[in-house]
Amino acid sequence: MNFEWSEAQLELFEHALSFAKDLDFSGLAEDEFPHDVWRQLGDFGFFGLPIDGKYAANGSGFDILTTVKILEGLGQGSADTGVLFAGAAHTFACCMPIYEHGSEALKRELLPALVSGEKIAANAISEAEAGSNIATLATTAKRDGDYYILNGGKSYVTNGSVADYYVVYATTNKAFGYLGQSAFVVPRGVPGIEVGKSYKKMGLSKAQLNQVFFDDVRVHKDMMLGQEGQGARIFAASMDWERCCLFALFIGVMQRDLERCIAYANTRKQGDKTISKFQAVSHRIADMEVRLQSARLLLYFAAWQKSQNVDNTKAVASSKLAISEAFVQSGLDAIRVHGALGYIQESHVDMSLRDAVGSILFSGTSDIQRELICNRLGLL
Ligand SMILES: Cc1cc2nc3c(=O)[nH]c(=O)nc-3n(C[C@H](O)[C@H](O)[C@H](O)COP(=O)(O)OP(=O)(O)OC[C@H]3O[C@@H](n4cnc5c(N)ncnc54)[C@H](O)[C@@H]3O)c2cc1C
Repeated sequence: MNFEWSEAQLELFEHALSFAKDLDFSGLAEDEFPHDVWRQLGDFGFFGLPIDGKYAANGSGFDILTTVKILEGLGQGSADTGVLFAGAAHTFACCMPIYEHGSEALKRELLPALVSGEKIAANAISEAEAGSNIATLATTAKRDGDYYILNGGKSYVTNGSVADYYVVYATTNKAFGYLGQSAFVVPRGVPGIEVGKSYKKMGLSKAQLNQVFFDDVRVHKDMMLGQEGQGARIFAASMDWERCCLFALFIGVMQRDLERCIAYANTRKQGDKTISKFQAVSHRIADMEVRLQSARLLLYFAAWQKSQNVDNTKAVASSKLAISEAFVQSGLDAIRVHGALGYIQESHVDMSLRDAVGSILFSGTSDIQRELICNRLGLL
C-alpha cells in the first residue's frame, strides 16, 4: 500500500490552492452568482478535470484520484465554497453524464462550451414528492415523433437560474418504475421552461437554487442520454462522481479550518496562557484532525475503488457520510475554538458550519448513505 502522491499530483494540488486563494469575491452580494469567478474556474480547467481533451480544449482527462486532489486544493484555497459547489454540480452531475452517456454528436456539440464555462448546466431530478426516493418521478416525457414532450416540476435545482442546459430526469414508462426513467439534456431556450426565484439558503450562498418547471417542453430525441429507460442508472453513475469529487472540496475547507484553529489557539491568550494549553481546546482540535483524516482516507479509498471499476457503493456512501458529518461537527468545533468571534459573521468562521449543513442533505442525505451501507452489509 502506497499513500504517497506523485510529484505531478502535488504540483497540481499546489497550483489549485494558489489559484483558489487569488479568487476575488469582493463587490459581490452574499448570494450573487459570481460570473467572473465562474469564467476563471473554466479557464483553470475545473469543469474538464476528468474529461478527455478531445472533447474540449481545456479538458484534462485526469484520473479520479488526481481530480479529487485538485478539488481538495480548490476547496482549501477559495474564500467562498458556494461557487465551487455550483461548479462541481455542473461538472459531476451534468458534464459527466453527457461525457459518459451522451452520443458522440451530443458530446461534440455540448462539451466544449460547458467545459470552458461559457455555458452552465444544472441537474434536475428532485421533485416535491420525490426527494430521497426517486423511484417514481411525476415529471413525464411522452414520445411524439422525433420529439419528447416534457411536463412536470423540479424542486431544488442548483444553478437553476443561471443554467443554459438542464439534465432532466423524467418518466417515459410509468409501469417500469426505475427502468421507466430517462435522462434528457434540455436547452434553456426551449419554450415552456419557467424558473422560480432563487431560494435564500443557510449556506453555499453564491450557488443558486431554484424550482424549474417544464410545460409541454419539446426536446428532440437526440438530446436523450443513453437509451430510453436508462435514466436511473445514469443518475446513479453521476452521484458516484458527485459523492466522491464534490465532497473533496469540503476536505479542503476542513483542512483550512483546522489550520486556522491551530493558529488561533496558539496565539489567543486567556490570563497568561494561550488557549492551546487548555486540554479542552487542544483535544477538540485533535478530534478535528482525526475526523478530517478519517474522512479523507475514506474518500481516497472510494476514489481508488472507482478507478478500479469495482462495486464502490459502500465506500462512496461511507466517504460521503463521513465527510459531510465531519464538516458539520468541525464547523461547530471551529466556532467553539474561536469563542464569540466565531459567531460573528465578519470573522467568516461561521461560514463552514452554514455550508456544511447542506452537505448532509444533497447528493443523498446521511440517512440514505446509511441505507446504502446497510444494503451492502446485508442488513436490508
Ligand atoms: C443545497 C442543496 C442543493 C441541491 N441541489 C440539487 C440539484 O442540483 N438537483 C436536484 O435534483 N436536487 C438537488 N437538491 C435536493 C436534494 O437532492 C434533496 O433535498 C435530497 O435528496 C433529500 O430530499 P428531500 O429534501 O425531499 O427530503 P426527504 O426525502 O423528504 O427526506 C426528509 C427526511 O427523511 C429522511 N428519509 C427519507 N427517506 C428515507 C429513507 N428511505 N430512509 C431513511 N431516511 C429517509 C431523510 O434522510 C430526511 O432526514 C439539493 C438540495 C440542497 C439542500
